[in-house]
Amino acid sequence: MTQMQYALKGTITKEMMQVATNEELAPEWICSEVAAGRITIPKNINHNFDAVGIGNGLRTKINANIGTSEKHCNQEEEIRKLDISIKYGADSIMDLSTGGDLQKILERVIKHSPVMVGTVPIYKVMANLLMENKTFSQMKPDDIFSEIERQAIMGVDFMTLHCGVTRNSLSFLKNDERILGIVSRGGSLLRRWMEKNNAENPLFEQYDRVLDICEKYDVTISLGDGLRPGAGADASDRGQFAELLILGELVDRARARGVQVIVEGPGHMPLDQIEMNIKLMKKICKQAPFYVLGPLTTDIAPGYDHIVGAIGGAIAAAAGVDFLCYLTPAEHLCLPDEEDVKQGVIASRIAAQSGDIVKGVKSAIRQNNAMSKARRDLNWEAMFNCAIDPEQARKRKSSSESADEDHCTMCGNLCAIKTDRDI
Ligand code: SF4
Repeated sequence: MTQMQYALKGTITKEMMQVATNEELAPEWICSEVAAGRITIPKNINHNFDAVGIGNGLRTKINANIGTSEKHCNQEEEIRKLDISIKYGADSIMDLSTGGDLQKILERVIKHSPVMVGTVPIYKVMANLLMENKTFSQMKPDDIFSEIERQAIMGVDFMTLHCGVTRNSLSFLKNDERILGIVSRGGSLLRRWMEKNNAENPLFEQYDRVLDICEKYDVTISLGDGLRPGAGADASDRGQFAELLILGELVDRARARGVQVIVEGPGHMPLDQIEMNIKLMKKICKQAPFYVLGPLTTDIAPGYDHIVGAIGGAIAAAAGVDFLCYLTPAEHLCLPDEEDVKQGVIASRIAAQSGDIVKGVKSAIRQNNAMSKARRDLNWEAMFNCAIDPEQARKRKSSSESADEDHCTMCGNLCAIKTDRDI
């Protein structure tokens, strides 16, 4: 049974208890929100780890993407990136590998990860076809469903499935031209397949098969936004919202089967459109947990997109987003290295924490206030302990001239806190 099916029967599972304890909320309330689909607990029945919830009233969670590419494939490096992501506070890992032995890498990630693991199964389907010297257009619909089931058996907790890229949603792109077209890998592949084969998206047409598999293993569906805007100028267009309307219907169908579901969102988006998009998505998808990449509020900062994503992510989290996918300084440029992963996770945590203060998440407010009090007391050890990255805070302080003094080199003897305290 899925967590949602247990919740609908009023059964409080071990996983619901874990979420309740971590979030300082009543188990009965977690259970009722899981039953309503406003909270999901992505945890495959074949994957053993401490469960984490995503959704209404909970701390904003963050995901770190790792994975090989065809041009850069080193399994050990990806496992090190996983460890770095966990060390700096990622709640989830997505293995987006597209190069090397994908089955082996995913097995290692699932075994090694102490947090939920997500995938985009269509990447593996594509890689298999390439190994057979075939193009993606030669894919058979059964290839996708076999791969989804294979990964479900392996223990994947949530899967991005681009079920909303349909003939209908794609038709809205025809007369409403974008600068950047389709930027989702899954979305662009499916569009190509549909056009070459003159057929509907199998993930939409045979959605009940998706539900059958996800119900059996309690895999949470992450409804992918295959038509997400990849440029600020393309945000909030007809194609994006046409897909969203379809995703809303697919949320209903998943809930009717007791299958857990979250919905993915943009993408590149001007700052003043973020709140509107979050509120609209929550309304259309009946308060399903929302998972965003960024959003990126400007397109001109390659090398610094972790900062751009954190700006958008903080606004999105404050507006009600539940799950942030990190961006690293390597975004749009190359595969992230280990330092990029660290920077990406920390930037996302800053965004999540900023949103959680607005949401009224108790632990976030407590940590914030503890830091403020430590600053008031000029208690540097306490400040380091409250910091998102204690190592960095300690390193910067100890490298300054006044490392042993209670004030710092910023204002020196003009330290405002000391002056105020003396008064
Ligand atoms: S010297 Fe300035 S920056 Fe440093 S602790 Fe005092 S008030 Fe804060």
